Amino acid sequence: MADPVLDLRGLSKSFGALKATDDVTLTLQRGEIHALIGPNGAGKSTLMGLVSGKIAPDAGQVWLDGADITALSVARRAKAGLGRSFQVSSLIPDYSALRNVMLALQGRQGHSYRFLRSVNRDTALREGARAALTRVGLSPRASVEAAMLSHGERRLLEIAVALAMGPKCFLLDEPMAGLGSEGTTRLVTFLNALKHEAPILLIEHDMDAVFRLADRISVLVYGRIIATGAPADIRANPQVRAAYLGE
Ligand code: ADP
Ligand code: MG
Repeated sequence: MADPVLDLRGLSKSFGALKATDDVTLTLQRGEIHALIGPNGAGKSTLMGLVSGKIAPDAGQVWLDGADITALSVARRAKAGLGRSFQVSSLIPDYSALRNVMLALQGRQGHSYRFLRSVNRDTALREGARAALTRVGLSPRASVEAAMLSHGERRLLEIAVALAMGPKCFLLDEPMAGLGSEGTTRLVTFLNALKHEAPILLIEHDMDAVFRLADRISVLVYGRIIATGAPADIRANPQVRAAYLGE
């Protein structure tokens, strides 16, 4: 197989006596959506934290595009090409959609007004931000404050913020949460196009969306990956059905 974009090698993390992540190894290959599923408390968020850099592992490494990024901070990992949308919004509510993307492009989400004025003057930043908004279909809403956008639009704006950084891959934590069926369908279509630009590691509770979207699925139970495979294989896997799908 070609070199993976993201390569998680033997990651472990304990909280006291609890092994939240237990020797997890998985890859994210070019062009794919790799979904991570598992029951509540299985360790999905912890694993995402280990990848994004929010949590330091007890053992194991995170490799991005052939480089070991395990020792890098969250901000350095983002600069290295790890694009992330958060389960909890990182948007600045009283800034317009455009300004939110411009600030991300600037690589620092500062709040100082003087900083903001200097950002406003930067045409290249503005053009880059507009391009990202166009990609997610939000350019008509560029001047609307983040707080005034619909829930679905805010999810798209978060992806535009990540997209503007030109990431090598995306970590998406429940992007479908709170979207109606129309919003979910739009996002599924968009992610299917986006994955060709940068592959996507996806945590998602909406199983219909996962099975429609994912090229591969890994099933996490008690911090361990019990199966990785194509959706059809995962659906048919007796161990998965017993441990997770409740059969
Ligand atoms: P998931 O996202 O799959 O629901 P989590 O990664 O949030 O699972 O949690 C995995 C396990 O680790 C759970 O048992 C949770 O209670 C525990 N856990 C997560 N974060 C912490 C923490 N900061 N301190 C102690 N226990 C934690
Ligand atoms: Mg979680």
